Amino acid sequence: MKFLNYLAFAGAMVAGTVGMAEDRFITIGTGGQTGVYFVVGQSICRLVNRDTAKTGLKCTAPSTGGSIANINAIKAGDMDMGVAQSDWQFHAYNGSSKFEGDKFDKLRAVFSVHPEPFTVIARADAGIKTFDDLKGKRVNVGNPGSGQLATMEVVLEAKGWTMGDFALASELKPAEQAAALGDNKVDAIIYTVGHPNGSIQEAVSTVDAVLVPVEGEAIDKLIADNPFYASATVPGGMYKGSDADTHTFGVKATFVTSADVADDVVYEVVKAVFDNFDRFKKLHPAFEFLKEEDMISQGNSAPLHPGAEKYYKERGWM
Ligand code: GLU
Repeated sequence: MKFLNYLAFAGAMVAGTVGMAEDRFITIGTGGQTGVYFVVGQSICRLVNRDTAKTGLKCTAPSTGGSIANINAIKAGDMDMGVAQSDWQFHAYNGSSKFEGDKFDKLRAVFSVHPEPFTVIARADAGIKTFDDLKGKRVNVGNPGSGQLATMEVVLEAKGWTMGDFALASELKPAEQAAALGDNKVDAIIYTVGHPNGSIQEAVSTVDAVLVPVEGEAIDKLIADNPFYASATVPGGMYKGSDADTHTFGVKATFVTSADVADDVVYEVVKAVFDNFDRFKKLHPAFEFLKEEDMISQGNSAPLHPGAEKYYKERGWM
């Protein structure tokens, strides 16, 4: 399968890293190995590491728990950069929602990446046609530290539900969730993620499964009240078993850092991506429709890091 080649390729990129004593090391927080964040981080590092001889920058992008884990790791100084959903970039910078009382003033936007629909996928035999049908079912709501778990909590609150409305609310990681669906340990999976991705490909190839629309008044209100949510569609035909478009809401994946990370480091990382943008876009099918102007203008709510701004100004984009 063509898509699996991308995953093998991402794995090869991990294996290809070597260190030199005088290098400056940077770490990028990603997500689970079967998601798209992992490929974002691996792809950025691949481009950065082509210029190590010139810049001294040596980049690694390990698998992590996802958005919330990445933001917290950057705040703690354990990681330099990371991928995070646009809703959690907003809340971390503004100290709202899950980040109330825990504002991250030094959070800085670098660019946004691909759209991430809030995606529900259910076993075809579970009788789940709408989000409301999840009530009383066994649902994998996402691992702690992930964007999907945090956004699922927002959706439940908007609908007046709690985790107790499910027969089971499991917190398996993306790499485990497809097998759990296939083994009939859960009826449905929640995943905020770019498409196509390895996890959902794996799910639909092991069991008959369908994408479930996420619509209705509560969702319309979330979209109307919050600049970082928008309606989203997973195109029909992308996954086996879902021939029609699936309507939901979504966010953007964004690439973030801290004001404490040096301007020249962020500049070199941004330059590596945008000087080689055609190459970058070929590294994952979810990157195919990326446009430079959207990436620097959409999904970013924290201030742009000055190192990124310098590059965008040089290119005449700002
Ligand atoms: N949106 C997910 C998160 O914030 C990660 C998706 C991915 O790994 O591609 O945790």
